[in-house]
Amino acid sequence: MAILENLEIVREQINKAAKKAGRCPDEIKLIAVSKTKPMDMICEVASCGVIDFGENRPQELAEKFDKIQNVRWHLIGQLQKNKVKYIIDKAELIHSVDSSGLAEEIEKRAAKINKIQNILIQVNVSGEETKSGVAPEDAEGLIREISEMPHIRIKGLMTISVAGFSHDENKKIFAGLKELAEKIDRLQITNVSMEELSMGMTHDFEAAIEAGATMVRVGTGIFGTRN
Ligand SMILES: *Cc1c(COP(=O)(O)O)cnc(C)c1O
Repeated sequence: MAILENLEIVREQINKAAKKAGRCPDEIKLIAVSKTKPMDMICEVASCGVIDFGENRPQELAEKFDKIQNVRWHLIGQLQKNKVKYIIDKAELIHSVDSSGLAEEIEKRAAKINKIQNILIQVNVSGEETKSGVAPEDAEGLIREISEMPHIRIKGLMTISVAGFSHDENKKIFAGLKELAEKIDRLQITNVSMEELSMGMTHDFEAAIEAGATMVRVGTGIFGTRN
Protein backbone atom coordinates (compact mmCIF):
# COMPACT_ATOMS: atom_id res chain seq x y z
CA MET A 1 0.00 0.00 0.00
CA ALA A 2 1.10 3.55 -0.63
CA ILE A 3 2.91 5.16 2.22
CA LEU A 4 0.66 8.21 2.32
CA GLU A 5 -2.44 6.08 2.65
CA ASN A 6 -0.75 4.28 5.53
CA LEU A 7 -0.05 7.61 7.16
CA GLU A 8 -3.66 8.70 6.80
CA ILE A 9 -4.85 5.46 8.39
CA VAL A 10 -2.45 5.82 11.32
CA ARG A 11 -3.56 9.42 11.88
CA GLU A 12 -7.18 8.32 11.81
CA GLN A 13 -6.44 5.58 14.35
CA ILE A 14 -4.70 8.08 16.59
CA ASN A 15 -7.71 10.40 16.44
CA LYS A 16 -10.07 7.56 17.20
CA ALA A 17 -8.08 6.28 20.15
CA ALA A 18 -7.77 9.81 21.54
CA LYS A 19 -11.50 10.38 21.26
CA LYS A 20 -12.22 7.04 22.89
CA ALA A 21 -10.02 8.10 25.80
CA GLY A 22 -11.62 11.54 25.97
CA ARG A 23 -8.36 13.19 24.93
CA CYS A 24 -7.57 15.82 22.34
CA PRO A 25 -5.67 14.28 19.38
CA ASP A 26 -3.32 17.29 19.39
CA GLU A 27 -1.85 16.03 22.65
CA ILE A 28 -0.33 13.06 20.82
CA LYS A 29 2.79 13.49 18.75
CA LEU A 30 3.37 10.99 15.97
CA ILE A 31 6.99 9.94 15.63
CA ALA A 32 7.56 8.23 12.30
CA VAL A 33 10.11 5.50 12.90
CA SER A 34 12.18 5.49 9.73
CA LYS A 35 14.95 3.04 10.66
CA THR A 36 16.25 1.11 7.63
CA LYS A 37 14.04 3.19 5.33
CA PRO A 38 15.47 5.34 2.51
CA MET A 39 15.43 9.12 2.26
CA ASP A 40 12.85 9.28 -0.51
CA MET A 41 10.29 7.62 1.77
CA ILE A 42 11.22 9.91 4.64
CA CYS A 43 10.85 12.99 2.45
CA GLU A 44 7.46 11.77 1.27
CA VAL A 45 6.23 11.43 4.84
CA ALA A 46 7.74 14.79 5.78
CA SER A 47 5.91 16.41 2.87
CA CYS A 48 2.65 15.38 4.56
CA GLY A 49 3.42 17.36 7.64
CA VAL A 50 5.24 14.83 9.80
CA ILE A 51 8.15 16.58 11.50
CA ASP A 52 9.29 14.01 14.04
CA PHE A 53 11.32 11.00 12.94
CA GLY A 54 12.77 8.20 15.04
CA GLU A 55 15.88 6.12 14.48
CA ASN A 56 17.37 3.43 16.66
CA ARG A 57 20.92 3.46 15.31
CA PRO A 58 23.03 6.55 16.01
CA GLN A 59 25.06 6.43 12.80
CA GLU A 60 21.95 6.04 10.69
CA LEU A 61 20.38 9.04 12.39
CA ALA A 62 23.55 11.06 11.75
CA GLU A 63 23.64 10.14 8.06
CA LYS A 64 19.99 11.00 7.50
CA PHE A 65 20.21 14.21 9.51
CA ASP A 66 22.22 15.98 6.81
CA LYS A 67 19.86 14.95 4.02
CA ILE A 68 16.64 16.66 5.07
CA GLN A 69 15.77 19.95 6.69
CA ASN A 70 13.04 21.13 9.02
CA VAL A 71 12.46 17.82 10.76
CA ARG A 72 13.34 16.68 14.28
CA TRP A 73 15.24 13.50 15.04
CA HIS A 74 14.54 11.21 17.97
CA LEU A 75 16.98 8.54 19.09
CA ILE A 76 14.69 5.76 20.28
CA GLY A 77 16.94 2.70 20.41
CA GLN A 78 19.54 1.47 22.83
CA LEU A 79 22.44 3.92 22.94
CA GLN A 80 25.99 2.89 23.73
CA LYS A 81 28.20 5.46 25.40
CA ASN A 82 30.73 5.47 22.59
CA LYS A 83 27.99 6.38 20.07
CA VAL A 84 26.69 9.47 21.87
CA LYS A 85 29.14 11.58 19.89
CA TYR A 86 27.35 10.80 16.62
CA ILE A 87 24.04 12.26 17.69
CA ILE A 88 24.64 14.80 20.43
CA ASP A 89 24.35 17.77 18.06
CA LYS A 90 21.46 16.20 16.13
CA ALA A 91 18.95 14.58 18.47
CA GLU A 92 15.94 16.60 19.56
CA LEU A 93 15.16 13.99 22.18
CA ILE A 94 16.92 10.82 23.36
CA HIS A 95 14.21 8.39 24.47
CA SER A 96 16.38 5.57 25.75
CA VAL A 97 18.46 6.74 28.72
CA ASP A 98 18.54 4.03 31.37
CA SER A 99 21.82 4.43 33.25
CA SER A 100 23.80 7.16 34.96
CA GLY A 101 26.88 6.15 32.97
CA LEU A 102 25.12 6.91 29.69
CA ALA A 103 23.75 10.15 31.12
CA GLU A 104 27.25 11.18 32.20
CA GLU A 105 28.50 10.73 28.66
CA ILE A 106 25.57 12.76 27.31
CA GLU A 107 26.30 15.45 29.92
CA LYS A 108 29.97 15.58 28.93
CA ARG A 109 29.25 15.79 25.19
CA ALA A 110 26.41 18.27 25.57
CA ALA A 111 28.54 20.53 27.76
CA LYS A 112 31.24 20.56 25.09
CA ILE A 113 28.87 21.99 22.47
CA ASN A 114 26.95 24.13 24.93
CA LYS A 115 23.70 22.27 24.44
CA ILE A 116 20.96 21.33 26.84
CA GLN A 117 19.96 17.82 25.79
CA ASN A 118 16.38 16.72 26.36
CA ILE A 119 16.00 13.08 27.31
CA LEU A 120 13.46 10.52 28.44
CA ILE A 121 14.16 7.78 30.93
CA GLN A 122 13.45 4.33 29.51
CA VAL A 123 11.70 2.15 32.05
CA ASN A 124 11.34 -1.62 31.84
CA VAL A 125 7.78 -1.77 33.11
CA SER A 126 7.11 -5.30 31.85
CA GLY A 127 10.16 -6.69 33.62
CA GLU A 128 11.20 -8.78 30.63
CA GLU A 129 14.82 -9.74 31.16
CA THR A 130 15.92 -9.08 27.62
CA LYS A 131 14.64 -5.54 27.64
CA SER A 132 16.65 -2.42 28.30
CA GLY A 133 15.33 0.21 30.65
CA VAL A 134 15.66 0.91 34.33
CA ALA A 135 13.49 -1.12 36.72
CA PRO A 136 10.49 0.93 37.92
CA GLU A 137 11.70 0.80 41.52
CA ASP A 138 15.10 2.21 40.52
CA ALA A 139 13.72 5.02 38.35
CA GLU A 140 13.46 7.65 41.07
CA GLY A 141 17.07 7.20 42.17
CA LEU A 142 18.34 7.37 38.59
CA ILE A 143 16.25 10.44 37.85
CA ARG A 144 17.50 12.22 40.98
CA GLU A 145 21.07 11.48 39.96
CA ILE A 146 20.64 12.68 36.36
CA SER A 147 18.72 15.77 37.48
CA GLU A 148 22.00 17.09 38.91
CA MET A 149 23.59 17.12 35.45
CA PRO A 150 23.41 20.72 34.18
CA HIS A 151 23.26 20.00 30.43
CA ILE A 152 20.45 17.45 30.60
CA ARG A 153 16.71 17.95 31.05
CA ILE A 154 14.51 14.99 31.79
CA LYS A 155 11.20 15.46 29.97
CA GLY A 156 9.41 12.24 30.78
CA LEU A 157 9.47 8.47 30.46
CA MET A 158 9.54 5.88 27.70
CA THR A 159 8.69 2.20 27.62
CA ILE A 160 8.24 -0.69 25.21
CA SER A 161 5.54 -3.28 25.81
CA VAL A 162 5.78 -6.99 25.19
CA ALA A 163 5.43 -8.54 21.72
CA GLY A 164 2.26 -10.59 21.47
CA PHE A 165 0.45 -8.94 24.34
CA SER A 166 -3.27 -8.24 23.97
CA HIS A 167 -4.75 -4.74 23.97
CA ASP A 168 -5.61 -4.98 27.65
CA GLU A 169 -2.23 -6.40 28.62
CA ASN A 170 -0.47 -3.61 26.73
CA LYS A 171 -2.71 -1.04 28.34
CA LYS A 172 -1.75 -2.33 31.75
CA ILE A 173 1.96 -1.93 30.97
CA PHE A 174 1.41 1.58 29.67
CA ALA A 175 -0.77 2.52 32.64
CA GLY A 176 2.13 1.40 34.83
CA LEU A 177 4.41 3.93 33.13
CA LYS A 178 1.80 6.67 33.51
CA GLU A 179 1.43 5.88 37.19
CA LEU A 180 5.20 6.04 37.70
CA ALA A 181 5.34 9.39 35.88
CA GLU A 182 2.65 10.79 38.16
CA LYS A 183 4.52 9.58 41.21
CA ILE A 184 7.77 11.19 40.03
CA ASP A 185 5.97 14.37 39.08
CA ARG A 186 4.72 14.74 42.65
CA LEU A 187 8.34 14.73 43.89
CA GLN A 188 8.93 18.09 42.15
CA ILE A 189 12.55 17.39 41.31
CA THR A 190 14.44 20.37 39.85
CA ASN A 191 15.10 20.06 36.09
CA VAL A 192 12.69 17.14 35.80
CA SER A 193 9.30 17.29 34.13
CA MET A 194 6.99 14.44 33.30
CA GLU A 195 5.30 16.10 30.34
CA GLU A 196 6.13 13.37 27.82
CA LEU A 197 5.20 9.70 27.83
CA SER A 198 6.71 7.92 24.83
CA MET A 199 4.87 4.64 24.47
CA GLY A 200 3.16 2.64 21.78
CA MET A 201 4.36 1.22 18.45
CA THR A 202 2.46 0.02 15.38
CA HIS A 203 0.72 -2.89 17.12
CA ASP A 204 -0.07 -1.21 20.42
CA PHE A 205 -0.24 2.58 20.04
CA GLU A 206 -3.99 2.67 20.57
CA ALA A 207 -3.63 1.06 23.99
CA ALA A 208 -0.82 3.52 24.73
CA ILE A 209 -2.99 6.50 23.81
CA GLU A 210 -5.78 5.21 26.02
CA ALA A 211 -3.24 5.01 28.86
CA GLY A 212 -1.94 8.56 28.32
CA ALA A 213 0.84 8.48 25.70
CA THR A 214 1.98 11.88 24.42
CA MET A 215 4.32 10.37 21.83
CA VAL A 216 3.72 7.24 19.76
CA ARG A 217 6.54 5.66 17.76
CA VAL A 218 5.15 4.14 14.57
CA GLY A 219 7.36 2.48 11.97
CA THR A 220 5.78 -0.46 10.17
CA GLY A 221 2.33 1.13 10.17
CA ILE A 222 3.64 3.99 8.05
CA PHE A 223 6.63 2.66 6.10
CA GLY A 224 5.64 -0.99 5.77
CA THR A 225 7.58 -3.99 7.03
CA ARG A 226 11.35 -3.91 7.43
CA ASN A 227 13.73 -6.55 6.09
C1 LIG B 1 11.44 -0.02 15.69
C2 LIG B 1 10.92 0.67 16.90
C3 LIG B 1 9.63 1.22 16.92
C4 LIG B 1 8.64 1.10 15.78
O1 LIG B 1 8.21 -0.22 15.66
P1 LIG B 1 7.00 -0.61 14.64
O2 LIG B 1 6.49 -1.87 15.18
O3 LIG B 1 7.63 -0.77 13.30
O4 LIG B 1 6.03 0.49 14.68
C5 LIG B 1 9.24 1.89 18.07
N1 LIG B 1 10.05 2.01 19.14
C6 LIG B 1 11.30 1.50 19.15
C7 LIG B 1 12.13 1.66 20.36
C8 LIG B 1 11.78 0.81 18.04
O5 LIG B 1 13.01 0.30 18.06
